[in-house]
Amino acid sequence: MENIGLFGGTFDPIHNGHLHIAQAFADETGLDTVVFLPAGDPYHKPQRTQTPAKHRFIMTELAIADDPRFALSDCDMVREGATYTFDTVQIFRQQFPTAKIWWLLGSDSLMKLHTWKKWQTLVRQVNIAVAMRKDGNLNQTPRELHAWLGAALQNGSVRILQAPLYNISSTQIRATLENQTLSDGLIPQAVARYIRQHGLYR
Ligand code: ATP
Repeated sequence: MENIGLFGGTFDPIHNGHLHIAQAFADETGLDTVVFLPAGDPYHKPQRTQTPAKHRFIMTELAIADDPRFALSDCDMVREGATYTFDTVQIFRQQFPTAKIWWLLGSDSLMKLHTWKKWQTLVRQVNIAVAMRKDGNLNQTPRELHAWLGAALQNGSVRILQAPLYNISSTQIRATLENQTLSDGLIPQAVARYIRQHGLYR
């Protein structure tokens, strides 16, 4: 059976934290493919001026070029209006009816899962891999998720990745790029070059 991993994000910009957890995701759950899904119209984030999807898509394409397991889809960019993970998963289900589908989340996102469209149905359709993040402590799991998460960790439909913490966020990278150069190791060099060429985040 095919094992497909889906990784949705704003990727504004994509950083090495994303790439590290996607590698751990593929290694630890034995995935054939991790599909990166740059968001078109994120509805969980506060309103702010976001880099156009075209740039975020190309930066993601540059960032994933070195790992043959990594793929890219514009599935979440081309749909009209707000894009919900629930709908994305239905699309992949239809396309790969016999595959086992995994969804990758940072632990900060996991703590908000109960606010997602049809989350209770969603979690029956996908397995979830969680990458730990500093601001997503599992001891602070919201009440709404408690019973489900306890059971899901027991039956293996939710898995906490062993990957170490990568303390990198797009927010921190955007803030630095506004007035300084970025230190090495935070984003792939090809992405840094693209950002410079297009004058992004200034
Ligand atoms: P921002 O700072 O703009 O909120 P971000 O760095 O969280 O961005 P996103 O593109 O929003 O990046 O993240 C996509 C997914 O990847 C989310 O589930 C998020 O929790 C997870 N993620 C991002 N960075 C990390 C990291 N360093 N460690 C673990 N998970 C991460």
